[in-house]
Amino acid sequence: MARIYIKTYGCQMNERDSEQVAQMLMERGHSITVREEEADVVLLNTCSVRDLAEQKALGKMGMLRALSRDRPIVYGLLGCMAQNRGSALLNELPHLDLVVGTQKFHRVADHVDQAIERKWSTRLDDVRFSIVDVDEEANSQRTIRDHVLGERQATAFVSIMQGCNMHCTFCIVPFTRGHERSRPLQEIVDEVKSLVAKGVKEVTLLGQIVNLYGRHEFVSVDGKSPFVQLLEALQEVSGLERIRFTSPHPIGFRNDLIESFGRLPKLVEHIHLPLQSGSNRILKAMHRTYTAEKFAALVDRIRSVTPTIAITTDIIVGFPGETDDDYARTHELADRVGFDNAFIFKYSKRKGTPAAEMEQQVPDSVKENRNQDLLELINSWAKRRSEPFVGREVEILCEGPSKTNPSRLTGRTRGNKIVVFEGAPQHIGTLLNIRIARSTGYTLYGHPVGG
Ligand code: SAM
Repeated sequence: MARIYIKTYGCQMNERDSEQVAQMLMERGHSITVREEEADVVLLNTCSVRDLAEQKALGKMGMLRALSRDRPIVYGLLGCMAQNRGSALLNELPHLDLVVGTQKFHRVADHVDQAIERKWSTRLDDVRFSIVDVDEEANSQRTIRDHVLGERQATAFVSIMQGCNMHCTFCIVPFTRGHERSRPLQEIVDEVKSLVAKGVKEVTLLGQIVNLYGRHEFVSVDGKSPFVQLLEALQEVSGLERIRFTSPHPIGFRNDLIESFGRLPKLVEHIHLPLQSGSNRILKAMHRTYTAEKFAALVDRIRSVTPTIAITTDIIVGFPGETDDDYARTHELADRVGFDNAFIFKYSKRKGTPAAEMEQQVPDSVKENRNQDLLELINSWAKRRSEPFVGREVEILCEGPSKTNPSRLTGRTRGNKIVVFEGAPQHIGTLLNIRIARSTGYTLYGHPVGG
């Protein structure tokens, strides 16, 4: 049996896919190692959203080749970049044994076993024997359903759909993940019930445009979209305490969903709502199909139902043709909304997407300046949004030791704020109240109430 090293790049969906791969490999008797130097099989689950992510994975795979000097190693690239580049990757990295796309994660264990068999018995290292599996597969959305849960693990990601039909002009995702396909509602509910039976208290529903869940497969009932029907069904799962989801698109954020925050107590007070730009001209060129005014009005409607809700976002700076005035609109809207946090991305050309062919690409130095300027604004709003928690009691779900200081514990509020505190092992995996003593903007520090 082999020791398998899996490294994941990119979003939560990639992490979730890697978890499925790990579970299937462990079921076959293989073990997962976090130490690349002791691995027999190296799998990199890749991201294609920006060039930097691709370069990192390519660089890592090149570097790891040295491991095979001493013993036979199976090398595999999985996920988005594998899907996007396919067999062309073998030219760049001739030591690759596996290239497995986004609709074939459930086949990785078979491919790994086959590659191990060949390597260990024949020591053959020849691209003619490499496996490239990047075809479309009907119902692949139903294959990401098994979990690897740690001891007292309280949170889990649940993949409810795959693909994206939005075709934003900057985005590679429709090419790497295919068209939108959703899982049956009952299958998702059953998965969540089995997670809860193992101690999970919070689930995060994952989809590229998560609020459009089921729109091709299922119908609205009493004015409620399939996504809201799913939230209602999960609200009824006994023992489940919190429901999150990411990422929705502003365009599908209708009243049935906004009102859900007022009537479904398990739905937490946090929305990650990608803005991308505050300029109508740029939004149109991005094919985002809403305006800055509509985004602002949506935020107002959400806050009118749930005034304390935390709102985070994604913003791209330096999209082709973005002028100083366009950027000023983004800054203005970000300031008007006052996001709790934001991921700011410098636009990255993705081959095959319409924006990559647009004229007036923005110089890197301009992107960098806008990035810095926006970061300052986002940081200052993060501080303003966190400050009011100081001196107050908040409910957190404790996830385990803090990554930066393992002698402390960490958890999240319902609004997704990170809280670090001096706790006890029995707190892990439980909901508890923390009195907040101080804030650094993105992290709150405190002590258990009564502890
Ligand atoms: N599908 C989700 C959505 O649109 O809401 C998120 C997908 S992507 C993994 C996350 C973020 O990456 C996007 O919201 C966008 O801000 C950013 N992104 C996507 N393509 C990009 C590009 N070519 N350059 C820079 N950032 C990009």
